[in-house]
Amino acid sequence: EFIQSDLLKSLPDQFFVSLVKKIASHAAKGHDVINFGQGNPDQPTPGHIIHKLKEAAEMPGNHGYSPFRGLQSFREAAAGFYFREYDVELDPETEIAVLFGGKAGLVEAPLCLLNPGDTVLVPDPGYPDYWSGVAMANAKMEMMPLLEENDFLPDYGKLSDDLLAAARLMFLNYPNNPTGAVASREFFDETVELACKNEICVVHDFAYGAIGFDSHRPVSFLESPGAKEIGIEIYTLSKTYCMAGWRIGFAAGNKSVIQAINLFQDHLYVSLFGAVQKAAAEALSGPQDCLVELNRLYESRRKVLIDGFRKAGWDVEAPKGSFFAWLKVPDGFTSEQFSDYLLENAHIAVAPGSGFGPCGEGYVRAGLLVPEDRIKEAAARIEKLGIFKK
Ligand code: PLP
Repeated sequence: EFIQSDLLKSLPDQFFVSLVKKIASHAAKGHDVINFGQGNPDQPTPGHIIHKLKEAAEMPGNHGYSPFRGLQSFREAAAGFYFREYDVELDPETEIAVLFGGKAGLVEAPLCLLNPGDTVLVPDPGYPDYWSGVAMANAKMEMMPLLEENDFLPDYGKLSDDLLAAARLMFLNYPNNPTGAVASREFFDETVELACKNEICVVHDFAYGAIGFDSHRPVSFLESPGAKEIGIEIYTLSKTYCMAGWRIGFAAGNKSVIQAINLFQDHLYVSLFGAVQKAAAEALSGPQDCLVELNRLYESRRKVLIDGFRKAGWDVEAPKGSFFAWLKVPDGFTSEQFSDYLLENAHIAVAPGSGFGPCGEGYVRAGLLVPEDRIKEAAARIEKLGIFKK
C-alpha cells in the first residue's frame, strides 16, 4: 500500500458521503426509505436545456478541448443573467470564472487566498464543503454562530476586534443551507462595510438564489455597493435549473479573486465540455418559467411538510428560502440519535444538524425533495411513532 500524504490524512470523511452511505445501506435491507437527507433535486432538467445539450453534442466543433477559461458565450450569458436578475454589471472577461459546480469554487477560493494558519470565518451551522478548502489550505476556522434568535444571521457585534483583524476570508450563504433563512440587502450592506474595514474577502454562496418563499425574492450579495471590491459570489446551476449532475456553475465579482481562481484551474482542469456550457448558457438566458414552477413546487411541498409534521405533534418552523426545513429535535435526543431513530423506526432519512457544525446540534435538516404523497406518508409514520405530545 502507498503511504498517504499528510494532506490526505488531515481530511475527515466527507459528511454527505457518510450520510448517503448510511441511507443506502438501510434501503438495501429492503426498507421503503423516504429520503429527505441529501440535497439532490428530484426534478428533471427543463426540456429546452436538454435539447440544447443534444444539439451542441452533435456538433463536432464542441468535441475538443474548450478554451481554458471556458466559453465566452457562457461567461456572457452569466453576465447577462446577473444584469437581468439583479441589475449587477459584470465584465465577462475579468469578473466571471467558470466552475465545475459551486463546490469547486468553494474549495478553490481558500486554496487561492490563504496561507497556512490564516483565519477564516465560517457560518455554524453551514454547508460542510466550506471546511474542505480551509482544511486543505491548513488554515484556521473560526465559527460564526447562526442562531434562531438572530434569524440565523451572524451577529457581527459578537466578533471580537482581534478576530476581525485576523480574519482573511468569510463564507456566507443565503438563502441558507441548512437553516432555510434568508438575508436582506441591509445585511449584505453591513457585511460589505465590515469586510472593507477589516480587509476580509467575502465568499457568498448563492446556491439557492432562485428559491424564496412567501414572495421573498433572494438578494444577491453583489447588489450591495462595493461588494465587488471585497468579494465574490458563487452561483451554481445545480439547484436553480435542476442540473446537479451536470457540474456547472460560476464565480462572479472581485477581479483579483477571479483571476486567482482561473490560474488555479488552469493547473487543474482545461474546461468543461463545450456542449454543457452551451446548454448552461441557454438555461441562464432562455425561458425562465421553469423557475416559477420550481418555486411553486417547493412552496407547496413546504406547506404539506409543515402542516403534516405539525399535525403529527412536531413543533416545526417553515423555511423562508432554499429547499430545506430545519427542524428542532425533541428532548432526550441528540441530532444524530434522532436521525438514526427516524431511519430505524420510520424509515425516514434526514441529515443530523450536528453534521453542519456545533450550532447545528439540536436540529435535523429535511430537504423538500420528495413528492407530496411521500411527505404525507412521512408525516403519518411520524404520527404513528407517538413521540410528540399533542
Ligand atoms: N452550496 C450549498 C449551500 C449547497 O447546498 C450545495 C449543494 O448541495 C452547493 C453549494 C454545491 O452545489 P454544486 O457543487 O452542485 O454546484
